[in-house]
Amino acid sequence: MAKLTPMMQQYIDLKEEYKDAILFFRLGDFYETFFEDAKTAAGELGLVLTGRDCGLEERAPMCGVPHHALNGYLAKLIEKGYKVAICDQLEDPALAKGLVKRGVTRIVTPGTVIEDSLLTETENNYIASVWLDGKNSGICYCDVSTGEFSVIECTEDIAGPLGRINPREIIAADSQIKKALKMFAGTTLRASFVNPYYDWAYEPKTATDALKKHFKVKKLDAFGCAGMPGAVNAAGALIQYLSETQMNALTHINRIVTYRDSAYMMLDNNAIRNLELTRTIMDGGKKGSLLWLLDKTRTSPGARLLKKTILRPLNDREKINMRLDAVQEIADEIYLREVLIEHLKQIRDLERIIAKISYKTINARDCLALAESLRALPALRQVLEEKGKSALLQRIAAKIDLMEDVGALLDKAIAEDPPVVITEGGIIKEGFDAGVDKLIGLSKNGQQWISLLERKEQEETGIKNLKVRYNKVFGYYIEVTKSYLKLVPYRYKRKQTLVNCERFITGELKEKEEEILGAEDRRKQTEYQIFGDIRDVLEQNIGRMQGCAAALAQLDVLQSFAFVACENNYIRPVITDGDVINLSESRHPVVEKVLKDGFVPNDVYLDRQDRRLLLITGPNMAGKSTYMRQTGLIVLMAHIGCFVPAKKAEICLVDRMFTRVGASDDLAAGESTFMVEMNELAYILNNATEKSLLILDEIGRGTSTIDGLSIAWASIEYILQNLKAKTLFATHYHELVELGSTQKGISNCSVAVKEIGHEIVFLHRIVDGGTDKSFGIEVARLAGLPKTVIDGAKHKLNKLRANEAKLAQSLDYTSNNEVQIPHFASLLEKTDIDSMTPLEALNFIHALKSEMNDELDGGKP
Ligand code: ATP
Repeated sequence: MAKLTPMMQQYIDLKEEYKDAILFFRLGDFYETFFEDAKTAAGELGLVLTGRDCGLEERAPMCGVPHHALNGYLAKLIEKGYKVAICDQLEDPALAKGLVKRGVTRIVTPGTVIEDSLLTETENNYIASVWLDGKNSGICYCDVSTGEFSVIECTEDIAGPLGRINPREIIAADSQIKKALKMFAGTTLRASFVNPYYDWAYEPKTATDALKKHFKVKKLDAFGCAGMPGAVNAAGALIQYLSETQMNALTHINRIVTYRDSAYMMLDNNAIRNLELTRTIMDGGKKGSLLWLLDKTRTSPGARLLKKTILRPLNDREKINMRLDAVQEIADEIYLREVLIEHLKQIRDLERIIAKISYKTINARDCLALAESLRALPALRQVLEEKGKSALLQRIAAKIDLMEDVGALLDKAIAEDPPVVITEGGIIKEGFDAGVDKLIGLSKNGQQWISLLERKEQEETGIKNLKVRYNKVFGYYIEVTKSYLKLVPYRYKRKQTLVNCERFITGELKEKEEEILGAEDRRKQTEYQIFGDIRDVLEQNIGRMQGCAAALAQLDVLQSFAFVACENNYIRPVITDGDVINLSESRHPVVEKVLKDGFVPNDVYLDRQDRRLLLITGPNMAGKSTYMRQTGLIVLMAHIGCFVPAKKAEICLVDRMFTRVGASDDLAAGESTFMVEMNELAYILNNATEKSLLILDEIGRGTSTIDGLSIAWASIEYILQNLKAKTLFATHYHELVELGSTQKGISNCSVAVKEIGHEIVFLHRIVDGGTDKSFGIEVARLAGLPKTVIDGAKHKLNKLRANEAKLAQSLDYTSNNEVQIPHFASLLEKTDIDSMTPLEALNFIHALKSEMNDELDGGKP
């Protein structure tokens, strides 16, 4: 009976263990896939499907990629959500007896890539694990390329914080996977990257034990995990998943960072999207977002931290002020700012270099990058010690460990221009190790001997252009062109004939070749070993490097804030525990940048009493949205410790910021535009507190005017009476202006325009008082709608206006029908019911009813 070849049997045995992954099996210079994996790989990567004899009757389908091109293909597969198991040769094929030993060395998943070419420098690449259990839910997320490992205990929704983390991959317990997928439907989280993991891994005891074992602690309390059961379950499962897939000690993942919602301003995904915090709504790019504006960081870890900082505003006055103090010092002291910028530029991506040390994938060039970064540290620390009076800058200075010992080792040991691969020699500097020096000498002497031999042979044979050359196949050989072949002596042994020349070897040449190559091989091996020792030293210092890297990233963010503040004329906000947001001459940070000079500053005043809710009316295109968003952005900027675009800013702490802006639909999740709007409104009304800031633009626009107006009306009343949250509410329902005179806490304002004849000029100035005009047709005209449409619209508008009064009356009737009650009550009072016959009573009711119908009919447009 046909039997698989031993190699194919080896493949099948390995594949059995990694059924859910595409197995890349190293064969010589290729990584091959077989059977179903080969078909998938060929289809997804656009490669040719070939076949290979496997011992059975039919050839095994096969599809391979060259080993040096693996990363490019990996990127494509993981982008599509596949897991890839990398199977390597575990011994040198040249030395192996029989079948080469092979084993899976890593499983690559979208959330666990570490290769530079598969990562974005300024972005974190997170894998998250979730535990869903109502108020005890938890999230753990990790970036294996930097070692960040954080947990969040979620008392409320989990999709919100997850959206902020934006993981590339999510794992959830087998039994919760359906629930998780349902929860993520309709969010930006891509369901294809949600993978099930064993239920047992999420059990409290297993999870806790796994964490204790990995972090080598007796209790998790030191990390602040006490009272975070959901987060601990998620974290325990994740650490097991990582050790299973990464097959590595993960020494750089050495602490758990805990987050509790209450310490930060809560930002839901809509606020992140609508305020365009990290990308614009229009094209999803960074340019035009707040992150784009604030990013003057000089290092990749700084850029990554800035993004996290923007998405996690503080909710603690003391901490915000600590940042503001530091930013102020850097902004005020030009020398400090310049030294920071100059030396931060020299710092490379320490976090990712540290991860490479842990993964043992660091090469000599990374070591040089590390050494160069370390050289920048003394100047940074010195300037902070001299000029940094604030607590935060002092704390950062104290955390900058100069690591002179590590720097000295790298400076002494690593060659100046080493190759990328660490097995080819040329990575250890001469003078660092006597053994390597000796081997370098031997191979250098050998090279000299070869040159001498070439001259000697030219003289002896009289062949002037005779050359001694080297290639990988023949080793050293003598090359003679066709025209001199008759001079070749008998002692030359022919090895190869080419068109213009022939190649020969001699006994003497081969003897020396062994000596030279032997020395070179030994040099490569010795250098590799020494490099391994250096890597071990680096690994022992990972903790020091991480502390320093974190401090530098923070310094970079503060420097970036200060730079942007100076560049754009921002001021330091005053953060209060009070209840007022008072901004003088505030600007939209991004719009003013784009408009250059023409931006019109505006004041904002919100408090707990008369101006809790600003009802903003005004024409289309006047600047209502800009005004509301700039307020949101300024409040957020203040909460991350950044200066703000205003003349003066007093800002109270805000616990949550919500936005409901514009129309969008989620057809994929089966929800219409209006349903999405109502979902978002419901979420806001159910979650806002009196410490929250609400930005509501055009509530109720997605349905009929009467329905929409009624919803907007009732929502405002609910916010004023129940939530008491600070609110900016822009609307084209001018009927709402009336609320300003009947409800306490609401203040009308509008955006001023100047009417010149039929034309309007936008002044972009917010003034007190409402307006009753939208100038929508004017804006339509400006946009270039055909004249016939504009004229038709004006005609219709005039007709509708004539009916508007009637509509208002009808609304008044339906919303205030108690107004009618006194009329009917007085009629009833006047009538002596006791003296009525049944027929008279019936007629009376009939008369009342027709009178009521007349009233209603009269109100109809
Ligand atoms: P609509 O009701 O149609 O949504 P809107 O009142 O919300 O309009 P915005 O979208 O805020 O208007 O602003 C329209 C444009 O006006 C902006 O793109 C910007 O170019 C300009 N603008 C807004 N505010 C200002 C300002 N304060 N100074 C200068 N230009 C401004």
